[in-house]
Amino acid sequence: MAIVKKTPEQIDKMRAAGDILVRTLQLVERKIRPGVTTKELDTAAEKFIRSQGATPAFKGYRGFPGSLCTSPNSMVVHGIPGPYALRKGDVLSVDCGVILDGWVADAARTFAVGSISSTARKLLDTTAASLLHAAEQCRVGNRLGDVSHAVQEVVEAQGLSVVRSLVGHGIGRDMHEDPQIPNYGPAGKGIKLEEGMVFAIEPMVTTGRHAVRMGEDHWSIYSQDGSLAAHFEFTIAITADGPSILTPWHEAAA
Ligand code: MG
Ligand code: MG
Repeated sequence: MAIVKKTPEQIDKMRAAGDILVRTLQLVERKIRPGVTTKELDTAAEKFIRSQGATPAFKGYRGFPGSLCTSPNSMVVHGIPGPYALRKGDVLSVDCGVILDGWVADAARTFAVGSISSTARKLLDTTAASLLHAAEQCRVGNRLGDVSHAVQEVVEAQGLSVVRSLVGHGIGRDMHEDPQIPNYGPAGKGIKLEEGMVFAIEPMVTTGRHAVRMGEDHWSIYSQDGSLAAHFEFTIAITADGPSILTPWHEAAA
């Protein structure tokens, strides 16, 4: 396993890609309402990303047709944008990657379509909280297991399940670099975190059990038991000053 560390200048380039990504997610958030199709969201996102002189990282990645992954309800990740029209009460996970000047940023969040059930609200709030808790662990001297464990701790305390067969990853010039970052596991184990490492941390959580299955399109991944799923992701740099979130969608007013 070779982890490619980034200089502060390179991290700034990733932050610039991340800024476009945050604004893309804001654009998507403004468009989400009952009746809008996931394809319409994807078209708007791609247009915006290209208008900023950037490239959608997902489009064409291993043949993926969209600029966004749009995954409603029991779909966990990797949904292909299409004719599905959002309905009031849905949750929709939107994952996006942006390449600017050769550097990649990757982030996701799950949106509510109108008012949602209290179970769905707990799922979204808990998954986002687990990501923020994990982000806090991205410090020099901590170990990778501290990050993984932070997610699991927050999620399982609420009686929800961490998807185990999908992981976060290092990121930089390539969207998927070493190391793999599970969302569960013991604290205090794994590699030591060092300045210049950049991670995409992405808890995927269900209201049921953790097992998942692949859809018939060979992209979409669903909870096996049909329970609701959420997916939140940041690209985060480990700096001398602590964690630096390069895709701070949580700070941006929509
Ligand atoms: Mg992603
Ligand atoms: Mg990712």
